[in-house]
Amino acid sequence: MNSWQNFDEDDHFHDECGVFGVFNHPEAANLTYLGLYAQQHRGQESAGIVCTDGHTFNTHRGMGLVADVFKKSEIKELSGKHSIGHVRYSTSGESGLRNCQPFSFEYAHGGIAMCHNGNIVNARELRQQLEKMGSIFQSTSDTEVLIHLVARSRATNMKERLAAALSRLTGAFSLLVLGETRLVGVRDRHGIRPLVLGQLDGAWVLASETCAFDLVGATYVRDIEPGEMVVIDENGIESLYPFKPAKAKFCVFEYVYFARPDSTLESVNVYQARYKIGYELAKEAPVDADLVIPVPDSGVPPAMGYAEASGIPFQMGLIRNHYVGRTFIEPRQSIRNFGVKLKLNPNRELIRGKRVVLVDDSIVRGTTSRKIVEMVKAAGATEVHLRISSPPTKHSCFYGVDTPDGDELMANKMDLEEMRLTIGADSLAFVSFEGMYRAVGKPRELHCDACFSGNYPVPIEGPRSPQLSLLRIHNRKE
Ligand code: SF4
Repeated sequence: MNSWQNFDEDDHFHDECGVFGVFNHPEAANLTYLGLYAQQHRGQESAGIVCTDGHTFNTHRGMGLVADVFKKSEIKELSGKHSIGHVRYSTSGESGLRNCQPFSFEYAHGGIAMCHNGNIVNARELRQQLEKMGSIFQSTSDTEVLIHLVARSRATNMKERLAAALSRLTGAFSLLVLGETRLVGVRDRHGIRPLVLGQLDGAWVLASETCAFDLVGATYVRDIEPGEMVVIDENGIESLYPFKPAKAKFCVFEYVYFARPDSTLESVNVYQARYKIGYELAKEAPVDADLVIPVPDSGVPPAMGYAEASGIPFQMGLIRNHYVGRTFIEPRQSIRNFGVKLKLNPNRELIRGKRVVLVDDSIVRGTTSRKIVEMVKAAGATEVHLRISSPPTKHSCFYGVDTPDGDELMANKMDLEEMRLTIGADSLAFVSFEGMYRAVGKPRELHCDACFSGNYPVPIEGPRSPQLSLLRIHNRKE
């Protein structure tokens, strides 16, 4: 686990996925490895890279962190100037090696590899149609559906085959496709998930987040537009728009929690957005206190903003153990119970006798918040005022982020006072929608905030209805 994630896997959003692609660089595999390494926070379950020299596709994929999956010898085997890579936290499709991305296939028109971040909402429906027509699937991943659609297309070139296949997809996804002589990057029509374009030594690079460009030394060029398909080949870049036009609906939770604070997405620096949310929170929910303490790590920037706006000193009153790692991804109750204590320790000398404002990014089930408040009180705080840098999480995400069932979400079943009492805080406040968007600096209508508001920008239809999707998530966890 990385330092941008919160500490309790049981009581938090799980990340989605991260992608990285390179076109025309002699060090394509090495760059992709680094690009994935920088985006490890977006998925820790598996990692994979596919490279091509224009003829053969070389693949290495495995379960675990990027540094565990790829050793020097494996990177060396990945020859070719073009490549795509993926880090995964499974949000759709079962966990396991056969679902590790990227997928690569040989079909009538040559080789092709793909990976994606997000959810294709109508994947199940498309899959059933394809199976009726005789398609055989190797995995349960959404990505494979697209590969079959491409393979079945009658269009004469890859660009058109891909555009025709993409036009049938609905959902929230950023995709990378690697052909023998092309790299393609696609964002869904609402641009819910991020995808950015950069340049390095004359080569083109694509990534989920700009922090990946910083590590490889690439220059950020621009965000891929919602609904845009960029085709990169030896002639340069071409943009196509295979989807029906739609309003931009970027995932606002990227700013609150998912993205690394050193990334800039849709022209908004993630750190600054978080800091300003804290500032807004202090104006909206002031309290007399002696210290502002963040729940590390994503609570740090909003706590700093809260401290500045309120004039209350900021202190690192909770110290995080960064080396706990993946132990807590193991779904064993006996291990879970140690979670908070192993990962966080209160600095008693700072906290004793103080009135504390505790700042965290969200409350999911509420169990972690309760344990932390308890811990801070046990360390001698006379009062604990909990401030949350997002609105209450009342709904599940169906767009690639693994959230618990709606009825497991604390804010779905309790009002503010019931939540405060259950958590044991002296006061509890969430930032308002208005405050959050003032901090982001962009209009609300350009964002998805369905997990807070219930306003889903992409209709969830048929067998992927919210009810069934919830069951799917629930069953997978058992
Ligand atoms: Fe992001 Fe929430 Fe929308 Fe999911 S529902 S895409 S987490 S804002």
